[in-house]
Amino acid sequence: MTNAIAFDLLRDPRKNKGTGFTREERDRYSLNGLLPDTIETIEIQAQRAHEQVDRLEKPINQYVYLLQLLDNNEKLFFKLLMNDPAKFMPLVYTPTVGEACQTFGHIFRRPRGIYISIRDKAHIKSILQNWSEKDVRFTVVTDGERILGLGDLGVCGMGIPIGKLCLYTACAGVPPEYTLPITLDTGTNNEDFLNDPFYPGLRQKRIQGKEFDDFIEAFVTAINEVFPQICIQWEDFAGKDAIRILNTYRDKVCTYNDDIQGTAAVATGGLLAASKFSKKPLNEQRFLFLGAGAAAVGIANLLVLHLMQEGKTEEQACRQFYMFDINGLLVNSRTDLADYQKKYAHDTEACKVFADAVLQIKPTAIIGVSTIGGAFNQQVIESMAAINEKPIIFPFSNPTSHSECTAEQAYTWSKGKAIFASGSPFGPVEYGGKKFIPGQGNNVYIFPAMGLAVFATEAKRLTDEMFITASAALAEQVTDEDFESGLIYPPINKILDVSLHIAVKVATNIFELGMAGIDKPANIASFVKSKMYQPVYS
Ligand code: NAD
Repeated sequence: MTNAIAFDLLRDPRKNKGTGFTREERDRYSLNGLLPDTIETIEIQAQRAHEQVDRLEKPINQYVYLLQLLDNNEKLFFKLLMNDPAKFMPLVYTPTVGEACQTFGHIFRRPRGIYISIRDKAHIKSILQNWSEKDVRFTVVTDGERILGLGDLGVCGMGIPIGKLCLYTACAGVPPEYTLPITLDTGTNNEDFLNDPFYPGLRQKRIQGKEFDDFIEAFVTAINEVFPQICIQWEDFAGKDAIRILNTYRDKVCTYNDDIQGTAAVATGGLLAASKFSKKPLNEQRFLFLGAGAAAVGIANLLVLHLMQEGKTEEQACRQFYMFDINGLLVNSRTDLADYQKKYAHDTEACKVFADAVLQIKPTAIIGVSTIGGAFNQQVIESMAAINEKPIIFPFSNPTSHSECTAEQAYTWSKGKAIFASGSPFGPVEYGGKKFIPGQGNNVYIFPAMGLAVFATEAKRLTDEMFITASAALAEQVTDEDFESGLIYPPINKILDVSLHIAVKVATNIFELGMAGIDKPANIASFVKSKMYQPVYS
């Protein structure tokens, strides 16, 4: 006869405490002898795990170790992450997760989350019912077509929903049992993967058009039937699909797109802070985007709404925004613009070279969301520094190799004048005897907090107004001291407090808008806090 209970406990990551099982639990569940004698605290276990991570040199190996820890002991994994988010976030999410996705088929060990392929279209509901939990509130779902700035990675994009949901918990305390990573396998156009024997997804080209849209519709219907309180976060779909999907479902179900709205909120938060400290109000800034895809349009749309809340008309607000894509500056004479881009086109001369566009437009801020590493070259940054006392330079493309410039380039070429934030992290830079700590405009400042607010209030919808609330709540937490050191975002090690502050503001907004699924509690702040996950053994 096998000792099923004991082995189930040791193998279930949600229940396993390893050496943390108490004497009484060891007696009750026949665990005696299966563990060494000493009963350890989770703190000691976390110190050991930390030491083990440090013994591994390559980030990708550290990633593999951490994911195995998650499969082994969930509380210990989150304890480790929550002890030192600044260290572990880049390992479970960007930039390491980029390499993890590229090599996903090769480092694959244990499945995690749910995979739904187009072959499953007729029975998505029963697939979702296979999940271990019956009350799921949050899913991050991708089709892997545009993973970070790395392109089509097919089902190997699953690293993103997994990593991102870890951060919902580690950075805002969303309980992990309510989260579910999902990959929709709609094929891949990545030839390398199609020819790789280790590629674990469907071996066919992507479906598109009506077939794709019908599959998404079937998925949205099924998941809302199986998990009626679900909030769907769309992740790393190609820009054209991302915008269409969001617009189709945003008023029908509880959903949002982090690449569009999360990026927009974090960029808006950074620009609010930058405007405050540069003493040039938002309504006097002129923004030039490199890239006119999902991220660029999302940021601009949210800033436009913000400016409208401050009294501008939509048309007046849109005039402050210029965009430059693969075919040059968005001007009204172009015939290739998508509808969602047209409001940012201007009656000005066509221009095909970004450095020339900087001289033509004279922006106060340049925002890079093009995936083109190095596109903010010396000429661009020197021009920005010549035009502005405090040029705002935000290379937001991920991963690091796709960043439009490095922190060092921005500070050096602008002679220390730049207000800088990037999508991927950069280390401190010394320039002119001063040490700059570059800010990272990481969506992690926004999406975990949104998740906590939605989870606590059981929100029925997510609106742009809520993202504006989040960006203002983020910006107000940047101190003079932070800004002096170069930061326009709060230090990442304070992420749990930062997220709680934002979540409370957004939850308040959700109640005000009548979008909550529960009655308003007497004290929203302590209510939201009480909903946060704690990595302790109970
Ligand atoms: P997208 O594919 O929708 O848009 C990319 C845009 O870049 C398109 O408009 C394209 O025309 C333009 N582009 C491509 N090559 C160009 C070139 N040579 N010159 C000028 N423009 C060019 O992608 P997206 O969702 O908008 O994301 C873009 C980038 O933003 C990605 O690298 C992504 O990682 C990054 N991003 C960062 C964050 C963040 O750090 N907070 C969040 C979301 C997205």
